[in-house]
Amino acid sequence: MILLDSVTKKYSGDNSPALDSVSLHIEPNEFVFLVGKSGAGKSTLIKMITKEEVPDSGKIIIGGIDLDYVKKKHIPGYRRRLGVVFQDFKLLPRRTVYENVAFALEIAGMSGKEIAKTVPKVLELVDLSDQAKKFPSQLSGGQKQRVSIARSVARQPKILIADEPTANLDRLTTEEIIQLLKKINDFGTTILVTTHNENIVNNLQKRVVTLADGKIVNDQKNNGIYKLDGTPAPKMPTRTIQTPGHALKKPAGKTNVKRII
Ligand code: ADP
Repeated sequence: MILLDSVTKKYSGDNSPALDSVSLHIEPNEFVFLVGKSGAGKSTLIKMITKEEVPDSGKIIIGGIDLDYVKKKHIPGYRRRLGVVFQDFKLLPRRTVYENVAFALEIAGMSGKEIAKTVPKVLELVDLSDQAKKFPSQLSGGQKQRVSIARSVARQPKILIADEPTANLDRLTTEEIIQLLKKINDFGTTILVTTHNENIVNNLQKRVVTLADGKIVNDQKNNGIYKLDGTPAPKMPTRTIQTPGHALKKPAGKTNVKRII
């Protein structure tokens, strides 16, 4: 689903590469945390996938698409096939919650009728049905991130990339957002999340890939724990993540929420 083969990227003016012969293979439906100290190369790796930056050497294949062959004019279309979530949400301030999600579908070419059917289902998925008419400035940080996630998953991407999605959120809200990402993953979307948050990584016990100085120094396939280099961080006591029941609830049997991811 995500394949990087010996990817190297050096920014002009830098002495050492931001990514140094990185090879990474993420299978369909995996949930992967990408961790590492500031400057380790996490954002650069994400930018390789979104084609915001291009590698100096190496091969990148995303969802069967060889990025060498994605021409500049096709980059926006390629990006729309990915779901991308940012730490600063990037919502349209003059549009309501509903309109923010609808707009993403509109630019993807969906018909008005389909949009009207899809948006309520996506808002239900992220538990924001009752906030549809609000503007971003009227929402909490966690709600804004839910809108951002709704907008990203509305187009049913096979891959969701989240670059520090909880950096601006408090602990409880962070856990809710991570549980929401997990729910989306349970429905079949491949998820790659960069984070500095040790607790969420250790609690979720998913695959954890560690970058240091532009190299992958650790790749723990299952039950990974947070490490910043090749040495394990002290094991944190594990505990169950508690979130409000409504945030965790699977869609009721009759809804078509599953279909939209
Ligand atoms: P992380 O996301 O892990 O903090 P980055 O990918 O942002 O790491 O950065 C990796 C390295 O590349 C750092 O040394 C950083 O200074 C450098 N870097 C990142 N972006 C640029 C840029 N646009 N120009 C020059 N150097 C950059």
